[in-house]
Amino acid sequence: MPLWRDTLTLPRIGARKVRYSWLEQFSESPDVLKNAQRQHTIVRVLDLEIGGGEFVAMAGPCSVETEFQLIATANHLRRAGARILRGGAFKPRTSPYSFQGHGLEGLKMLARARQESGLAIVTEVMSEEDVPLVADYADILQIGTRNMENYSLLQAAARSGRPILLKRGMVATIADWLRSAQLILDNGNPNVILCERGIRTFETALRNTFDVSAIALLKQISHLPVIADPSHASGHRELVPALARVAVAAGVDGLLVEVHPHPDKAWSDGEQSLDFAGFDAMMADLDPYLDLRQREAACHAAAAAHLHGTPIAEARVMEAVG
Ligand code: PEP
Ligand code: MN
Repeated sequence: MPLWRDTLTLPRIGARKVRYSWLEQFSESPDVLKNAQRQHTIVRVLDLEIGGGEFVAMAGPCSVETEFQLIATANHLRRAGARILRGGAFKPRTSPYSFQGHGLEGLKMLARARQESGLAIVTEVMSEEDVPLVADYADILQIGTRNMENYSLLQAAARSGRPILLKRGMVATIADWLRSAQLILDNGNPNVILCERGIRTFETALRNTFDVSAIALLKQISHLPVIADPSHASGHRELVPALARVAVAAGVDGLLVEVHPHPDKAWSDGEQSLDFAGFDAMMADLDPYLDLRQREAACHAAAAAHLHGTPIAEARVMEAVG
């Protein structure tokens, strides 16, 4: 009897042609929209390709706390299949009296963790003046939800030349978000990763409302890689694996997940952080969804090859670069 995995297929993710009304609706951000020449942007970070068909897990603590915490986490995450280590050295906090991050010391710890684990680093930059410093240590600059419309920060970050992980503002529409991405492109940096991290709605049961429809829409209209942050979207570790599965099914290119060796002792966001076993379980549960995604990519490549009379391996590359 065939396994359900062998019989189930996912709907095709993304479209080659963008619906005309969407082109009009997002016309202020023309360069982030798909067109005949560009169907996918691949962001290259060390030996990784984000947006090229491979699924990239980014994980780590909310805040960089101690070198021991960070290196233990990085080593575990590498073994568990993560490719990028996250961790805040400069922390935007809801309360000004909460831990604000170790700053430069935190960046140095991240660099040591990269050396130990081989994982690339993504970390937040909060102010224009800090961009050169953070860009010296990070492989990807994270722009947080509170800064999505801080245009002078976006400009400075774009000009650093580092790839930018642009989180959605908590009260930003998709059009607002794409305008910010457009500004980064306008400043000479094509390497933008969009990150859906939940928005504020009338619903207060959870920290945020995870807008999975934004992911589905972005996969239709934009060539930029799209990832999801199920940790900030839910605010509760029990819900993180389910939101991660939903995000993968909707077509994300990767996830950004908070993981801590002892979430109950975390200096920030412990209630939404997975412990090591929780991260391993989440990854294992994602496997069937990732398999489907692999098979879909192979089917699209085969269909493209059939259509154009192109060898499959070449068609896959064409599919990836658009
Ligand atoms: C974070 O990633 O730790 C963070 C502060 O995220 P956001 O900007 O989405 O709140
Ligand atoms: Mn956090």
